[in-house]
Amino acid sequence: MAECLFCQIVDGSIPARKLYEDDQAMAIEDVNPQASVHMLVIPKRHMVSLDETQETDEALLGRLLVVCAKMARERGIAESGYRVVANTGREAGQTVFHLHFHVLGGRSFTWPPG
Ligand code: AMP
Ligand code: ZN
Repeated sequence: MAECLFCQIVDGSIPARKLYEDDQAMAIEDVNPQASVHMLVIPKRHMVSLDETQETDEALLGRLLVVCAKMARERGIAESGYRVVANTGREAGQTVFHLHFHVLGGRSFTWPPG
């Protein structure tokens, strides 16, 4: 989608600090980090949110979560613990409407989230 921020990051027309890329997924640094480690794992294909996914997306969603775990290990937060978040829809706080998993670590988190 031409006007989608993350689609433009995927196609390279908007710069980002890219951490990982394969044929289906990309991981980037969040531009406004909420923890000492704050990465975003996104599908290259435009999809609005988890709410738009279907059974045919099972392999892609699995890949995205495997990339989250791999990035957490690479950044050294797997042992201490980390949080994977997919804000889905307005009341959940989603602001960019291209599916993404936040991978946050390097500090303690509270529960329930705000
Ligand atoms: P959400 O509010 O869950 O939709 O998360 C969107 C995330 O995208 C926020 O954490 C933003 O800081 C992040 N973000 C916005 N613009 C950019 C950008 N150009 N590069 C990297 N991350 C971004
Ligand atoms: Zn998009």
